[in-house]
Amino acid sequence: MQFCPKCGMRLALAIKEGKRSSRVVLKCPNCNYEVKSRSSSGEGETVIRRPTEKLTPQEAIVVISQREANLKTAPTQRVECPRCGNKEAYVWMVQTRGADESSTQFFRCTKCRYTWREYS
Ligand SMILES: [Zn+2]
Ligand SMILES: [Zn+2]
Repeated sequence: MQFCPKCGMRLALAIKEGKRSSRVVLKCPNCNYEVKSRSSSGEGETVIRRPTEKLTPQEAIVVISQREANLKTAPTQRVECPRCGNKEAYVWMVQTRGADESSTQFFRCTKCRYTWREYS
């Protein structure tokens, strides 16, 4: 529900006839102030949010691994790379946000730089 910014009256829906098409507007019955109707839901303002970045787990790992750019100092571990079969990978821990204080172990292949997490 919206109110007229000029006089405070409750705005009412009105059909505005245009040359090509008619559209629904919110109109003040008192002073004829008009605003374009933003949505058909009518429940206040509709905030159009941009689609938030939704990363797949693999993409999220890549983001994390880019943040962990100083991996040259990271220790390596004898782990088999699931992509190229290399037997050595950098290993580091990332604290996962949330109630559980558990941290996730990540690996990055020293050969092909493929990054994955340990699924325990
Ligand atoms: Zn008004
Ligand atoms: Zn690899």
